[in-house]
Amino acid sequence: MGYEDPVIYQKIDRVSKPIVAHLIASGYSGSTLLTHFLGAHSDILNLGEVLEAHKTNRDCRCVYCNESCEIWDLTIGRKGFLRNVNAFFFANFGRLRRLKRLALGILGQIFPDLLPGAIYHKIFRSQPHLKVVLDGSKTLKWSNWQSRNAKFDHRYIFLVRDFRALVASRQRKLNESFAESVSIIQRRYRNNEAYFEALPKEKRMMVKYEDLVLNPERTGTDLCRFLGLEYETEMEDYPGSRQHILGGSMTIMMRINDNQGKDSNDLKFSGKESYKGSGNFFLDERWRSELSEARLSEMKTNTEAFSRKYGYQ
Ligand SMILES: [Zn+2]
Repeated sequence: MGYEDPVIYQKIDRVSKPIVAHLIASGYSGSTLLTHFLGAHSDILNLGEVLEAHKTNRDCRCVYCNESCEIWDLTIGRKGFLRNVNAFFFANFGRLRRLKRLALGILGQIFPDLLPGAIYHKIFRSQPHLKVVLDGSKTLKWSNWQSRNAKFDHRYIFLVRDFRALVASRQRKLNESFAESVSIIQRRYRNNEAYFEALPKEKRMMVKYEDLVLNPERTGTDLCRFLGLEYETEMEDYPGSRQHILGGSMTIMMRINDNQGKDSNDLKFSGKESYKGSGNFFLDERWRSELSEARLSEMKTNTEAFSRKYGYQ
């Protein structure tokens, strides 16, 4: 792999742009698993849900290190993040596009942190060995905005999971009606698909959650090839890897935290649930017992269209 030889990387860096991989997925698709799996690769840094961390007024901190994180505290600082949030809202504020662009052009000269891709730029500058950063924000507007920075090779990973599993997850975790869950997931998929399908073929890859958990090596090899990397078996031991991420939640993080000898209760996660199964890859198919026949037939049209497209039984 030549990981110990920084000279090789310097050469590579000169001929090819660093890659920013954007995750496209709806909630409960298994994105935490996918991003941690990829983040365990020695050439990839999983940034976590960067945008999610921006949405609050809390300090932006690494989920695992909290304070004094070697990646985030030293490279970005907290104010830089807030400026990027401003940029995001700025970019999405009302019409007046030409005026906004002009204003941003001028402001960007004074405050480079306002410009898209500023986060990635800082990360790559402080971590020159990296080849790929993975942004798991899962928000199209955000990805679209960040993709305007042409210094990076932007790639897109679309994570797909059985429609019924997504509905069951929302029903389990959120206080909303069954019909709402179905229509929200339907709408998100439509948006994600439209965005994904409009991307150049060589810049995009679709991954199924089920393929990832049932055959991590094959799926991981395909993903790595897509990102111009060799597969590393260490990725399968992702809970043992040291990761530095922003935002996000869920049980996989607690498992990793446990693995690192910390008490998961120290982490401020809501909706904790027991994570059943063994090994690092466990197929969660609780929907099979949770969704009644009546519910399944209620969403039959949605499920059938989805299954035809993505090949679910
Ligand atoms: Zn950290």
